Order: sequence, then C-alpha cells, then structure tokens
Amino acid sequence: MKKIYLDNAATRLPLASVIETMSRYMHQHFGNPSSIHSIGRDASVAVEKSRKKIADMIGASTSQLFFTSSATESINTAILGAILSWNIKTFITSPIEHPAVLQTLTFYKNIFHLEIKYIAINSNGQIDVDSLENVLSANKNDSTCVILMQVNNELGNITDIQQAGNLCKQYNAKLICDMVQSMGICDVVLSTLPLDIAIFSAHKIGGPKGVGLLYINSEKPIAPLLHGGSQERNMRAGTENVAAIVGFAEAVEWSFKNISSTITHFSTLRNMLLQELQQGFRDIIVNTDITKSSPKILNIGFPVNTKTEMLLYHLDIENICVSSGSACSSGTHVMSHVIQHLPTNMQQVPLRFSFSEDNTLEEIKYTADVLKRILR
Ligand code: PLP
Repeated sequence: MKKIYLDNAATRLPLASVIETMSRYMHQHFGNPSSIHSIGRDASVAVEKSRKKIADMIGASTSQLFFTSSATESINTAILGAILSWNIKTFITSPIEHPAVLQTLTFYKNIFHLEIKYIAINSNGQIDVDSLENVLSANKNDSTCVILMQVNNELGNITDIQQAGNLCKQYNAKLICDMVQSMGICDVVLSTLPLDIAIFSAHKIGGPKGVGLLYINSEKPIAPLLHGGSQERNMRAGTENVAAIVGFAEAVEWSFKNISSTITHFSTLRNMLLQELQQGFRDIIVNTDITKSSPKILNIGFPVNTKTEMLLYHLDIENICVSSGSACSSGTHVMSHVIQHLPTNMQQVPLRFSFSEDNTLEEIKYTADVLKRILR
C-alpha cells in the first residue's frame, strides 16, 4: 500500500523539476566553481544565476545572500558572527525555537559569557511579542540580539516579525529570523522587513537536503563559521554544492509561483482533518493556534492512555507517517520542548500533521478513520 506522508514540515519529497534540474547539473555541469577553466566557470555561473533567482524572489540583493549546507549551519554562522562581529552580549529568544538556535546559544553561553533571556509564550502557544518590549526595555544597549522564528515548526503558529523587528529597531537591537518554515506560506519580501539576518532551508519547500541560505542585511561582513577557501565571498569556505544550489533556486521559484494554490490546498486539508478529529474525539487538544498559523501544520494532542502510548508506531504500521514533535534520544521519548511550554503539556500525546501539495482529501479521511479505529 502507498504510504501516506504527513510529515512535510520535517522534509518534503523533492519536486520532480528539482530532481530533473539537479540531475542535469550533476551530469553536465559538474565543475568546481573555483576552477578557472570553462567547466568550472559554467558551475560558477550556475551558482550566481541561482543566487540572482532567489534574490529576486525574496526581495534581497545578491550581495546579501550566502549559500550554506543547511539552516542549522546558517543559524550557527549567524549566532557566532553576531557575537564576534556585532559584539552581542545578550540574546533574547523564545523557549520554543528550533534546537539549532537553543542548543547553539547554550553552547556559546559559557564560552562568551552571554546572557540569554527568554520571552513568554502565551496560552495559545504564540510567542508573546508584547513581552519582547519589556525585555528589550530592560536591556537598552547596542549589544542585544533577538532571535525568533516566523513559523513554529511544531505548532505552525506565526509570529509577527514586522512587529518584533520594529521593536528591535526602537531599542537598537539586532534581529535574526529563522524563516525555514515561512517560504511558500508567508509573503517573504525581505526588503520590507526590519531584519538583520534571515535563514532558509531548501528541503522544506521541495528542494534538496543539505543546502541552506543566509541573508545578511549589513554593510560589513560578519565573521564566518567555516574557514578555508574563499567561497561565498569569504563567508563560507568549502566547495559549493552546485546541483543542490540550482535545485534550491528551482524550488524557491516554484514555491513563490504556487503560493496561493498551496495555501488554499493546505487550508482545505487542515480544515478537513481538524473537523474529522473534532467530530471523532471529544477530548483532543488543538495545540496549533488556528487563528494565526501556517495551514501546512496541525498539531493535535491526544489524551494519555494505553491506546495512545504507541500511537506513532501504530500509525506507521498503517502506512501513515506523522511526527510526534518529540525528540528521541537513546530510544527514550522525551516530550517536545515546544509542547512542554503549553499549559496542557502533561495531559497529551502530541501528533504533528504537516502537508504537501501532493496530499489528497482521501488521505486525510483515511488518516482520520485509522485514528478513530486505533483509539476507540
Ligand atoms: N529551523 C526550523 C524552524 C526548522 O524547521 C528546521 C528543520 O527542521 C531547521 C531550523 C533546521 O533546518 P536544516 O534541516 O536545514 O538544518
């Protein structure tokens, strides 16, 4: 039986056009972009054309964009660069950021004697941007940097980055925004957003894994994370993954072109799943704030009982792939750090359903029916 893949916030099946473009580049344009000869120059032109394509789509200039190996690497570069080049001493973030942010800040905290402050999460699981003002006003200096994600990868909840950015400007703080789950959902027009750094990843939007993007809105370069060759204008040493970069640009173009149909499709799938589950179960908790969230993601808490204990595995046996949003270490499941910050955290087994353009209403109906069968 065909698998039903509802874990598209983890990664998405690469688009057919991406695979086709990448395969062509791997066969025909395999050169090293740093080589002087024509095969190398071809590869270099491919990288620069991709940069231009992405820059035009996201409202940036090519000089502001740097390719990396992942959003995780982009986040690590941004944080270290902010510490070393902007002399940042205080980071303000939320406790529901991606581990790439939280763990990196924790790692550098003792090394650089940083202060890390966390802003509040409200009862809807939304980052309380108003509380950012209180924290910023208590830190009036120019060595503060705020790091927030726009779309939470576990809940789908959307933070008002314009509002956060305006507050940062008012209090002279830098703003780094993790926009990994934004593309194809939010209007990403960087020229209109008060941001210093933004971070993207290709594999969430139908591009390949292992390529990320760093947008730096600053006259002066920041210190790089990786040292070696002079690739990416000395910002990221290491031979460029040319085929992946070209695939990334293809995926960005596709996601911008299809944004309105994508949003309509995701909303239809999410509304149907929510309705089916709310009709089928009286005691579920809707962790996603439906009023202000990405329609790609629906996070539902099921009551803790013997039937929900192995829910993820039961669904897998039924060929349904979803995520619990929980980290799994040494075979032991740990409750997700995001769900832990919700008021209902102890009473639920969370499931994150996340959609792609390929999912159908039949798949959603089947998933809801299987859940009803397992849990009744
Ligand atoms: N930030 C968010 C919000 C994410 O969802 C992810 C991926 O799960 C990342 C960062 C890390 O992305 P990558 O897999 O490109 O390192």
